[in-house]
Amino acid sequence: MASVTIRNVEKSFGAMKVIHGVDIDVQDHEFVVLVGPSGCGKSTLLRMIAGLETISGGEIVIGDKVVNDVPPRDRDIAMVFQNYALYPHMSIFDNMGFSLKLRKRPKAEIEAKVKDAADILNLTSYLDRSPAQLSGGQRQRVAMGRALVRDAQVFLFDEPLSNLDAKLRVVMRTEIKALHQRLKTTSVYVTHDQIEAMTMADRIVVMNAGRVEQVGAPLELYDSPANLFVAGFLGSPS
Ligand code: ADP
Ligand code: MG
Repeated sequence: MASVTIRNVEKSFGAMKVIHGVDIDVQDHEFVVLVGPSGCGKSTLLRMIAGLETISGGEIVIGDKVVNDVPPRDRDIAMVFQNYALYPHMSIFDNMGFSLKLRKRPKAEIEAKVKDAADILNLTSYLDRSPAQLSGGQRQRVAMGRALVRDAQVFLFDEPLSNLDAKLRVVMRTEIKALHQRLKTTSVYVTHDQIEAMTMADRIVVMNAGRVEQVGAPLELYDSPANLFVAGFLGSPS
């Protein structure tokens, strides 16, 4: 079980409140996309799910466990960032195996897991290279590979495609969805790109200024936007 439940979650940085009582339910195996303009709080929400940011109010439940006080490394999650955050001086193999090494997993296990992930992501012949020797799409796959080796039930993506060119973005959308389906993970995917949200999501959460404006399947939102903000943001002609 790897549902993610966000209950009345709030976040303030000093005196500035940036998340105002947000509720989101992500079902087991669901692909939910958080979409909204820059600065609306998407990354902050994702970082709170990951445990990289403390929460100022409410609770976050992963599976059946309240994780408010659980450190990131003990949460059943893996995160894929926008800027890849690969270690430039390490080989692709070491980049992918690093989190397992930190967890002091046996060498044979690290090797098996990295090879499995590389196989799934078509990176097998690149394991000895360094990040600089890879294309943007391949580097993005390595970032996903690092998440894969963790065997996590929940994948969090923060604008993973925003550094790629338009053509590659379309290819990688399909790859990410295929991966999600193959691994039967639960995914929370952040983007400011409406098209990405419409094409990838089982359900979309539209955010604005630290609040949820509407939640629904892509066509549902497109056909029946709850308000002018949602209509304008999704580009509905109505
Ligand atoms: P998004 O990912 O939707 O672009 P963010 O979650 O990054 O938005 O930011 C939401 C708001 O919180 C913004 O106003 C941003 O300036 C503010 N913010 C984010 N992180 C910090 C921080 N560490 N300290 C202070 N303010 C922050
Ligand atoms: Mg962000």
